[in-house]
Amino acid sequence: MRHRHRSGHQWWDGRFRGCGYRITVPRQVILDALSKTNEHLSAEDMYLKVHKIHPGIGLTTVYRTLEILVGIGLLSKFDFGDGRARYELAEGPKGERHHHHMVCTSCNRVIDYTDFIDEEKDLLNKAEKGLSKKHNFKINGHSIQFYGLCSKCS
Ligand SMILES: [Zn+2]
Ligand SMILES: [Zn+2]
Ligand SMILES: [Zn+2]
Repeated sequence: MRHRHRSGHQWWDGRFRGCGYRITVPRQVILDALSKTNEHLSAEDMYLKVHKIHPGIGLTTVYRTLEILVGIGLLSKFDFGDGRARYELAEGPKGERHHHHMVCTSCNRVIDYTDFIDEEKDLLNKAEKGLSKKHNFKINGHSIQFYGLCSKCS
């Protein structure tokens, strides 16, 4: 069972090879960090988290690595309106981690939710079918954010 705890046995392994990228230390470290948090980290947040344990990984590397991982489709990048790009692990091949967001426009808190997602799915499927037909557009994903005030701010 020991191999289970080794890094490099995650769903993203195959994705690297498929894209001709190697798994480097910064890439592994950033993916690990994001797989262990529900936060939506900015590059600066990520740098502070990673730099403590891996002093060799600088901010520039973090920026570059995040963008590469977005490009491969392993991370999702969001702009929640606070002027900073934020990143989180993309959903897995079986839809693991699929969720939507509620964003508080006052304190910038971001809440992940999966409640009501089945109801939303029906609606979204209908919309996607209609849209792709009308615009001849192949839809392969969506991201949904609701904006408002959280319980503390309202
Ligand atoms: Zn969804
Ligand atoms: Zn709030
Ligand atoms: Zn999220």
